[in-house]
Amino acid sequence: MAESSPLEDFVDRRRRLFILTGAGCSVNSGIPDYRDADGAWKRRPPVTYQAFMAYEATRQRYWARSLLGWRRISRARPNGAHRALARLETMAKSEILLTQNVDRLHQAAGSEAVIDLHGRLDHVRCMGCRRVTPRDELQEELSRLNPEWLAHDAADAPDGDADLDGVDFSDFAVPACAHCGGVLKPDVVFFGENVPRDRVEAAQRHLERADAMLIVGSSLMVYSGFRFVEMAARAGKPAAAVNLGRTRADDLLALKVEASCDAALAFLL
Ligand SMILES: [Zn+2]
Repeated sequence: MAESSPLEDFVDRRRRLFILTGAGCSVNSGIPDYRDADGAWKRRPPVTYQAFMAYEATRQRYWARSLLGWRRISRARPNGAHRALARLETMAKSEILLTQNVDRLHQAAGSEAVIDLHGRLDHVRCMGCRRVTPRDELQEELSRLNPEWLAHDAADAPDGDADLDGVDFSDFAVPACAHCGGVLKPDVVFFGENVPRDRVEAAQRHLERADAMLIVGSSLMVYSGFRFVEMAARAGKPAAAVNLGRTRADDLLALKVEASCDAALAFLL
């Protein structure tokens, strides 16, 4: 019989895991991540909330790129890492799965106890009347208004974005809310925007009930995720992380596994 890995031992010894996941989990589903092994930006940082809300030109560029990016991210399928974490839930080992990903692939793999910390890309929210509509509906509207843009091709970028640049976005038509005329925004937390307080508090309550933390595929460079590792450390709850490369919490970890997420978690399947 093969010897069990340190990660397998870590999982075995705990009853209720607080699981935090990030972009590394979805890389093998064809969704690129933002950061390199040192936690630095691989590419131009994503659009900020302030720029998106302030400038029509920013929204034109965002939605033109998203029109192309959504075609692929909406077809992405879960990989072994998502399935392994769903398995932890069926084993009653998962207190909650808190994900920084907005792709809904954990739910597609069967996880039910999930908090989408940074929201979900398959929903669009009106910043005027707060109404939520499906992203697929907006995709139809964007395609109808901008048929010539569908011919563009561009490589996938993180979070349903596409690397479309060097073009004039000024004639891209961005629809407003059909109900109130407000600005439509993907229902995800942008850089420069706060995570809704009730979502953070719900996650905190789960952390109190958990006896350890498992971090999968996150460099924890964003404070919204990192703060939960700090909380776990203060509460004396051990944390293990699977990540290719450095994390911001390396000093706080009881165990660090430098491997791809699905390889490191394969023992669960
Ligand atoms: Zn509205």
